[in-house]
Amino acid sequence: MREPMIRRVCIVGGGTAGWMTAAALANKLNGLSIAVTLIESSEIGTVGVGEATLPHIRAFNKTLGIDERDLMRATEATFKLGIEFRDWGKIGDRYIHPFGDYGPAVNGVPFYHHWLRLKSLGDTSRLDDYSFPIVAAEQNRFRHPAAEHDRIESTFGYAYQFDASLYAAFLRRYAEANGVTRLEGKIVDTALDGESGHVRSVTLADGREVSADLFVDCSGFRGLLIEGALASGYDDWSHWLPCNRAVAVPTASAGPLGPYTRATARTAGWQWRIPLQHRVGNGHVYCSSFISDDDATRQLVENLDAPMQAEPRQLRFTTGRRRDFWKANVVAIGLAGGFLEPLESTSIHLIQDGITELLALFPDRGFDASDIVEYNRRMSLHYERVRDFLLLHYVATQRDDSEMWRHFRALTLPDSLREKIEAWQTRAYVVPYEFGLFLPPSWVAVMLGQNLMPTGYDPRARSMGDNALAARASAIRQEVAAAVRGTPDHADYIRRSAAAG
Ligand code: FAD
Repeated sequence: MREPMIRRVCIVGGGTAGWMTAAALANKLNGLSIAVTLIESSEIGTVGVGEATLPHIRAFNKTLGIDERDLMRATEATFKLGIEFRDWGKIGDRYIHPFGDYGPAVNGVPFYHHWLRLKSLGDTSRLDDYSFPIVAAEQNRFRHPAAEHDRIESTFGYAYQFDASLYAAFLRRYAEANGVTRLEGKIVDTALDGESGHVRSVTLADGREVSADLFVDCSGFRGLLIEGALASGYDDWSHWLPCNRAVAVPTASAGPLGPYTRATARTAGWQWRIPLQHRVGNGHVYCSSFISDDDATRQLVENLDAPMQAEPRQLRFTTGRRRDFWKANVVAIGLAGGFLEPLESTSIHLIQDGITELLALFPDRGFDASDIVEYNRRMSLHYERVRDFLLLHYVATQRDDSEMWRHFRALTLPDSLREKIEAWQTRAYVVPYEFGLFLPPSWVAVMLGQNLMPTGYDPRARSMGDNALAARASAIRQEVAAAVRGTPDHADYIRRSAAAG
């Protein structure tokens, strides 16, 4: 039997990516005699944004054994049932992309096909009225999903809106308690092994040298090891997703506590609003070719609904991904691996993907070239799937009221997205993607929400008589409405859960 070759792992960076990786490694590598060290620099700091998450994060926390109430208290979290999109299909439109399905399937056919048929028969009900998470979000109500699968209250998932810096601090406590060593210091140099091309060690400003067998680069946009030392290269996707800047500002809490994030389309980008327990996160993601920094900031400030709690902060990024997420003995996770604008709250999820894939292919017995190829294949697909879904929001639109929207009208789409839209338009079919993060209900939400109406639907939806279908649909709407009436106010629910803990 070969001796395990990986004895020391060094994580470079202590942002959300670094501490999520550290916590997961501490949990999974327990018992393998592998020492994990994390280096971070308070002088450099973290990106300091990132508040909206996806339901999958609950599985990550569960694996670590994290208690939800502890997490919510530590990170000022609120619950999230989906994302509200305003002004995307056209100015004045709004829809919610819910974390859940529309109605129960009828005769084995997803309910939206039946709704399309009802609509063709003249029915005017909204598809939203068949979705528990949408109707609950619209009324600022929240409850945990029911365990009984025959109840409409079981047909959804939920995520959190939280302060990602506090989440990182929370995971730091977990990781350190589980054996991870933290070093404070700024890395100023990297030494490569001439023969293998591996990173041998990093040197801190005070002269300390840290060697490891495997390095996880979580150093943020700079990609200190993956790019700085190993020149992985970057696939720039700005020609598809040209937004390259953001300005962010927190405001005081205002109005009812929404269990959803809001993304409002603007002339040269879009604005986010994310309610946490103690404040609201706001920001404007925009494209610098279509608006100046000053105008982007002005547009953000003019559209805030409460007093600012700090000065607006600028951020710059280039949409895309590393050519190799894993090169030699360095794996890049988080912003070091790539970045896609936070329109669907996917960045923290992509960190989770990076960690999950690394654990699945963990090189504890040494490096295997085929594992590295497989890791890069999987991560490339994870990023491409998200890219396509984000791009859908910009191209499934009637908007042409500014240079940015006209830019999207003339765009040549990636084949993967073009094929998906074509299959939808003819028969309302959502072609599944390998490694597709977003399942059919998410695509349906955005396509219908942005008025991309198909010309057909699943022929099996015709198996029911008109009156029987109308009666079934009415019963589902009433079930959703009654379930939401019995669902607590979101803010009360959080207060009561905290008191119960
Ligand atoms: P960082 O937070 O930048 O951390 C990098 C770490 O590396 C720091 O600890 C730093 O000190 C360390 N480091 C760097 N260089 C050195 C060095 N030389 N020596 C020692 N240490 C070093 N994600 C979501 O999921 N939801 C959102 O709503 C969301 N909104 C966003 C909005 C914007 C405008 C942006 C830009 C991002 C958003 N994200 C969002 C992404 C999210 O913020 C990041 O994915 C997440 O914070 C992870 O960042 P990171 O840990 O990779 O990098």
